[in-house]
Parts: sequence; C-alpha cells; structure tokens
Amino acid sequence: MHDLIIIGGGPAGLTAGIYAQRMKIKTLLLEKEMVGGQIAKSDVIENYPGFPSISGMDLMDKFEGHARNLGLEIKMAEVRDISLKGNVRVVKTTEGEFAAKAVIIATGARPKRLGVGGEREFTGKGVSYCATCDGPFFKNQSVVVVGGGDTAVKEALYLSRLAKKVYVVHRRDELRAEKILQEKALSTPNMEFILSHALKEIKGDKVVTGVVLKDLKTNSSRALEAEGVFVFVGINPITDFADVTKDEGGFIKTNDRMETSVGGIYAAGDCRTTPLRQVSTAVGDGATAAFVAEGYIEKLKDA
Ligand SMILES: Cc1cc2nc3c(=O)[nH]c(=O)nc-3n(C[C@H](O)[C@H](O)[C@H](O)COP(=O)(O)OP(=O)(O)OC[C@H]3O[C@@H](n4cnc5c(N)ncnc54)[C@H](O)[C@@H]3O)c2cc1C
Repeated sequence: MHDLIIIGGGPAGLTAGIYAQRMKIKTLLLEKEMVGGQIAKSDVIENYPGFPSISGMDLMDKFEGHARNLGLEIKMAEVRDISLKGNVRVVKTTEGEFAAKAVIIATGARPKRLGVGGEREFTGKGVSYCATCDGPFFKNQSVVVVGGGDTAVKEALYLSRLAKKVYVVHRRDELRAEKILQEKALSTPNMEFILSHALKEIKGDKVVTGVVLKDLKTNSSRALEAEGVFVFVGINPITDFADVTKDEGGFIKTNDRMETSVGGIYAAGDCRTTPLRQVSTAVGDGATAAFVAEGYIEKLKDA
C-alpha cells in the first residue's frame, strides 16, 4: 500500500509528487494520457516566474525530470473511482486497484465545447481545441479563434505566425485577456477582432469551409470563409469519478489547505474551485496539498 496517491500528472500533480518525495512518503502518481497536462500542449508560456519565455512542453519536461530524479513512481492509468475502506482510500483504475492512506486529485480540466452545429462533425477536420497541435495544418490559410480570454488571445497570437489571417470572435464588446497580450494582438497586422459576435454554425463539406456569425447587437448573421476554427471558451473540470462536494460547474470545493469534503482526499489545480487557473497557482496548490496530506498520513501512523 502507498501512503499517497496523486491523480493527474500536470503541474499540480507533479509538484505534489516533488514535495511528497522530499518528505519521504511512499507516493504513486497516476496519469491517464500524457505527463505534463494541458500546458504541455501550449506553444509558449510567458508568465511562469523564472522563465520569461519557454514552451509548455519544455517546462513540463523539467517538472517531470525533477519528480523522476527524486524517485517518484509514475504509472499510466485512468482513475475511474475512489472508495473508502476505513482509513484506506481505494483508487479504481483501468489498470487495477491501488490503495493509499491519502489521495490528491489533480486531474485538471478539458476544453469546453461551443455546442453549435458542425462542431462535432468537423472536430479534427478543421475544428480544434489546441493551436500547437493543429496550427501547422493551417499555414497561409484563414482561421477563426473563438474566445476573448488569456488562452484565446495567446493561442491566436501563435496562430498569426502560421496562418494568413486570424479572426478573433468574442461575445463581449471587449477582450478579457491580460493587457500585455491585448496590446501584442492589436498590433499584429494579420489579426482581426470581431467583437459582440457569437459563432452560430460551422460550415463545411468534408472539411471546414467557413462559419456563420451572429451580431449580438443587431441579431443579424454573416458568413465568414475560413479553413480552421479554434475554440478557447473555457474549461470543464475532470471530476466525475470523485464523490466529494463540488460547485455548480463541477469544480471540487476545498478550503485553503486543499482539503475536500472527505477526510484524506485533497484537490489541487484547475480541477478545484479557485479564482485563477494557471501553472503558477496549480504549483502552489500541489505543494500545499502534499504538505497537508503528509501531516494527515503521519497522524494516522501515530494513531
Ligand atoms: C492552450 C492553453 C494555454 C495555456 N496557457 C497558459 C499560460 O500561458 N500560462 C499559465 O500559467 N497557464 C496556461 N494555461 C493553463 C494551464 O495549462 C493550467 O492552469 C494548468 O495546466 C493546470 O494544471 P493542473 O495540474 O491543475 O491540470 P492539468 O494540466 O489539466 O493536468 C491534469 C492531468 O490529469 C490527467 N488526468 C485527468 N483525469 C485523469 C484520470 N481520471 N486519471 C488519471 N489522470 C487523469 C490529465 O491527463 C492531465 O495530464 C493554458 C491552458 C491551455 C489549454
């Protein structure tokens, strides 16, 4: 049996793993897809302290290397359920069951869908949720980016270096992104902002050929030709398997010690209710969760 199981190998989970290893608690990290998490799919990160500009993949390689050098055990498996047997937490996965005294949930989130016609049909045929993964397919073509937050504007800037034209479509009449990103975007010649508009439909034949936009001020519609549609309209937490108290969006509620509603189960990073979802905040959460979990595990040993 392990002392601690960490679910998720993104910034929060790997940081929890680094702290746990240094505290010498027997720890297992479970990851379903790819160690590194969401940020590993981002071209560049410019707001992680100490690294003025680094690719998401390079940064997460450093996290993973750090954790592995300390001896963190990492296993590829998808967690399906957590149950309690007295003081033991039993974690059911695609690769069997694992038991531990404490569990940290650091499963992050996945992109929200728009829910418009054509989105599902053309996903992978012009509709994408990852600019670094799919941007190179749209060299010298026109793409539409949907969203107005940090991620949307940052990924649109990346796409502007590949595509001929990048349209940024946003529902509000102003962007929500950091001012420094807005300034960069506004001075990029091949970017055009279409504010107060919603994307109504994605059109295509075998692949995307364009979109229909709705002007939210006049209710009129207009068509726009484009070969790609990149959607960055927020995230949904991956928390279905966890029977702990959540908010209306499905994010796990914790206190500032990362404790959930169930003793011995902690949550860290994007999967929890928090005002800011970034690598720097996920790192802080992961460190706190491991520190508090260690105290809990030690108390069980004394009992
Ligand atoms: C395109 C994009 C650009 C971004 N740019 C920035 C930026 O510039 N700066 C910044 O600070 N932040 C940025 N972010 C946000 C940042 O990526 C997240 O805040 C951060 O990755 C959250 O870390 P996390 O560890 O909580 O979750 P995640 O990174 O989502 O990691 C969670 C991990 O858990 C795994 N997992 C999920 N469910 C299970 C399960 N059931 N079993 C096992 N494993 C599971 C996932 O596969 C994943 O690897 C960006 C995000 C995106 C999508």
